[in-house]
Amino acid sequence: MRVCVIGTGYVGLVTGACLAHVGHHVICVDNNEEKVKLMQTGQSPIFEPGLSEIIKAAIQSEKIEFTTDLAAGVAHGQILFIAVGTPALPNGESDTRYVEAVARGIGSHLNSDYKVIVNKSTVPIGSGDWVRMLIMEGFAEQRATLNAAVLAGAGATEDLVTRKSSLPEPEFDVVSNPEFLREGCAVDDTFNPDRIVLGSNGAKAIALMQELYEPIVSRQYAIDKALPPVPVVVTDLSSAEMIKYAANAFLATKISFINEVANICDRVGADVVEVAKGIGLDSRVGNKFLQAGIGWGGSCFPKDVSALIHTADDYGYEAQLLKAAVNVNQHQRVIAIEKLQQVLKILKGKTVGLLGLTFKPDTDDLRDAPALNIIEQLARLGTKVKAYDPIISQTGMRHGLSDVIVETDPERLADGCDALVLVTDWKQFRNLDYAKMAALMHSPVIIDGRNFLDRKELEKAGFRYVGVGRG
Ligand code: NAD
Repeated sequence: MRVCVIGTGYVGLVTGACLAHVGHHVICVDNNEEKVKLMQTGQSPIFEPGLSEIIKAAIQSEKIEFTTDLAAGVAHGQILFIAVGTPALPNGESDTRYVEAVARGIGSHLNSDYKVIVNKSTVPIGSGDWVRMLIMEGFAEQRATLNAAVLAGAGATEDLVTRKSSLPEPEFDVVSNPEFLREGCAVDDTFNPDRIVLGSNGAKAIALMQELYEPIVSRQYAIDKALPPVPVVVTDLSSAEMIKYAANAFLATKISFINEVANICDRVGADVVEVAKGIGLDSRVGNKFLQAGIGWGGSCFPKDVSALIHTADDYGYEAQLLKAAVNVNQHQRVIAIEKLQQVLKILKGKTVGLLGLTFKPDTDDLRDAPALNIIEQLARLGTKVKAYDPIISQTGMRHGLSDVIVETDPERLADGCDALVLVTDWKQFRNLDYAKMAALMHSPVIIDGRNFLDRKELEKAGFRYVGVGRG
């Protein structure tokens, strides 16, 4: 099928590349010229395991193209994905201006061919109808421009009504198809989703979407091909939009729950890792998202939970549980500072090294990463902050990192530090030469912000080990 994906970030690029990989003809449109040039050479502008390989293969098999030309993308696609960012505004609401620009842009290039226009971006509930309205406004602008040109060319005596009818009403349906991929394993998640959600009032649109996803639903590209087909939830637009918010809000709340339990464990002398194991074995609870630590961050949870709280507010309901989950998380994001103060007392004039900067391992994404809060707080307290991150240390990305010295390896990081804080659970951090690092430090203290390291090993290496909720 012919597909156009507008916005080639973590979601759009992975979606476009994976759809090309399963055999569709994909045009990816982005308004960032530099990014487009890079992708045209087969390189990925983001770090995501396996992504570069499938982009290169899709370019070679001529299944994917990259352009800044929205008109070309709209003309090409039977199915048009909107996958631009929807970051949070300061009041917690989603900033939908990029979606708005794209929806109008699509309308201004629509012709009489039937199109399915898919909201892949996480958009506020009710955006399906709003996007339809914007597309129609874009189309009206196109028609007005055409009519003005006709009149200018043919003179004012021409019958405007006849001229207008030369541009037939566009035929399209809007579908909500929220994305659930996790950065760091986005390609695997796209080929092995837990479910696909399709929200629309149009039967034709749903049928085309099911055809599009058939190779994925039938597990042709799955790690385990013997699994039953991927469940497809077909529902209305608003429910599909709500599913995305509710899923992220639930997972964020689950983490805040275990973090609250961890804080009580710290006070009563229980070990949250044991507690999480004990409750996670209950199949009604499950063991995922029960790792206590320095809280959730990233480009999705914070903004999606805030947006849901904001929507509830708009409709006269106070989302108390979600607000509590956010409050617990805000406290948790700086719990490493409290622990550093307990051990080192005065932080002014001390040096602290952060192991990891990104909000989770296997990504280069720093958006709303807990590391940024920790850096800000430590800098405010007069602490010198250094950091080592397996990706950020290599890429030279320094945006938003002005208060931290980014070191090129873990030993340079440890050199002269009064304490280390493990911020991101990169798996390579399990195998560092901690004995050597301890020897390079002023005082070998480690705050394990993800309860990720082996306490006994660290103590053997000479560290004073402090976890989160470890009693
Ligand atoms: P991103 O910021 O990484 O990428 C957005 C892309 O859109 C950028 O490349 C930008 O240049 C491009 N863009 C902006 N305006 C444009 C325009 N007018 N025309 C063409 N391109 C334009 O965003 P992302 O992380 O991929 O997120 C996209 C959406 O998917 C968001 O709504 C997000 O909430 C949602 N989502 C993200 C994730 C994730 O893990 N990142 C997971 C699920 C859902």
